[in-house]
Amino acid sequence: MELIDTHTHLDFPDFDADRPALLAESRAVGVRQMVVLGVYRDNWQRVWDLVQSDPDLHAALGLHPVYLDQHRPDDVALLREWLSRLAGHRQLCAVGEIGLDYYIPTLDRERQQALFEAQLQLAVEFELPALIHVRRSHADVISTLKRMAPKRAGIIHAFAGSFEEAREYIKLGFKLGLGGAATWPQALRMHRVLAKLPLDAVVLETDSPDMAPAMFPGQRNSPAHLPAICEALAGIMAISAEQLAEASTANARRLFNW
Ligand SMILES: [Zn+2]
Repeated sequence: MELIDTHTHLDFPDFDADRPALLAESRAVGVRQMVVLGVYRDNWQRVWDLVQSDPDLHAALGLHPVYLDQHRPDDVALLREWLSRLAGHRQLCAVGEIGLDYYIPTLDRERQQALFEAQLQLAVEFELPALIHVRRSHADVISTLKRMAPKRAGIIHAFAGSFEEAREYIKLGFKLGLGGAATWPQALRMHRVLAKLPLDAVVLETDSPDMAPAMFPGQRNSPAHLPAICEALAGIMAISAEQLAEASTANARRLFNW
């Protein structure tokens, strides 16, 4: 089984003690490529250094909405500089993690929107996919994507919306990132949505070290858990793990031009 983990934070200090062993373990269970996403300006260098150390790692760079209050006014300009400098590099794969987070009430929505649009504009300009964080903000993300129509689309990370919302993203060319959250027995609505999703619209992800799946409760999540996540999701979708692995891997490769 060949898998691609389209969303990780492997640069986080959670992995400092055993990163090489964990990468080897992930490869041994079939995880062929992993995307590491930048979240604020001070971790981009770390993300880039990490992916440079391993040809199966790919970087996305962006300003995450959850860190809104840390971002500085010139950070978008700095992101543009980074993207210009790395343009065309095989290991630069996307702009992300970007998006809108309405779950945390203290994050100013207007500033989030401005930051999101400025970064989507960079995805358009540099012809990169966008990796998008959406919490309680589907309506605004969908209307922004309709307006800006980024040509290479991207991934809706940890998709947990309704089937109607899924359809809107799919119409815009986006893939839906599925991971540990949907493996929990409580995620009943998501189970019903999963069973209806077209296979050509899904990619797999872990969000390591976060979003532990039901099989590894409370543990640090890792790309090595992706086969178990694939198995659990395939069960909910009433297909084989091989079918889900094959489709999600092909979808990710097509999206990133790998
Ligand atoms: Zn993330």
